[in-house]
Amino acid sequence: MARIGFIGLGNMGGGMALNLVKAGHEVIAFDLADSALARARDGGCTIVAAAGEACLGADAVITMLPAGTHVAAVYGDQLFAAATPGTLLVDCSTIDVATARAVAATASDRGFAMVDAPVSGGIAAAQAGTLTFMVGGPDAAFARAAPILAQMGKAVIHAGAAGDGQAAKICNNMILGSQMIATCEALALALRLGLDPQKFYDIASQASGQSWSLTSYCPLPGVGPQSPADRGYEGGFAAGLMLKDLKLAMVAAQGVDAAVPMGAAAAALYQAFVNAGAGARDFSAIIAMLDGRQPG
Ligand code: NAD
Repeated sequence: MARIGFIGLGNMGGGMALNLVKAGHEVIAFDLADSALARARDGGCTIVAAAGEACLGADAVITMLPAGTHVAAVYGDQLFAAATPGTLLVDCSTIDVATARAVAATASDRGFAMVDAPVSGGIAAAQAGTLTFMVGGPDAAFARAAPILAQMGKAVIHAGAAGDGQAAKICNNMILGSQMIATCEALALALRLGLDPQKFYDIASQASGQSWSLTSYCPLPGVGPQSPADRGYEGGFAAGLMLKDLKLAMVAAQGVDAAVPMGAAAAALYQAFVNAGAGARDFSAIIAMLDGRQPG
């Protein structure tokens, strides 16, 4: 059993922290939101009044925060000062590669082992302990982080050096955003051409148009396995978060002069979808906008 500080107990972090409690760890938790703290306390975490307190005497500290600004502030203003050298630092937030590398460099300068470990899988996977972790950092830090991450996930993969977990995450989600849009466009066109949706699904799912967006997360209701489309596009992965990840990919691409025309088109389409007020809807709901219908 380890003593683990956990900072950021929102949609994702809340479930992850409770899985560490279930695995027998002592979890010292902090969040700015009282409601998140109350859920963590009810689930068996010890709650504290500041991020710095969560890392006192901790073997490891995990952060699950919204964006790079939050991560830079929490580590820079609190964790680096309060954590004991030897504490393993694990940032599971999805943030820009440059901030991830800058925070990791400061951690290294101060003698901390640190990894970036963003996740694939949504809120349900965070609760079920079936996330996939993409980890960036030195071998020794990965070796320490992997057994802890495995208690919150189904796969823990070492992507490479510091920041490489974030790089893998945004490249993966750039595939997903573009692929979902392509799948939605094709389904909308198939329907307009008079195809039966189930027949087209049966064909494309066994032909070269097959994709995760089609056969695991079909954006049409009543076709394929259960997906957010069957629940009115509620839950799942919010379009606003997909836009966030696509924007991170665009910034990263600019930084290394990479051409990403499909990713850029996907980012522009998700931006329009979010601007139309649909940021909280599942990202597959973009099928309505692509089909010329009201996105809301
Ligand atoms: P969320 O907004 O539900 O949770 C973030 C939590 O951080 C909130 O409870 C907030 O109060 C807390 N917080 C913010 N600043 C803080 C600070 N200074 N100190 C302590 N707590 C602070 O977000 P989420 O959906 O849990 O996402 C967290 C991260 O995981 C994001 O980077 C997101 O991109 C990524 N992610 C989310 C999903 C998803 O489906 N929700 C999937 C994969 C990855």
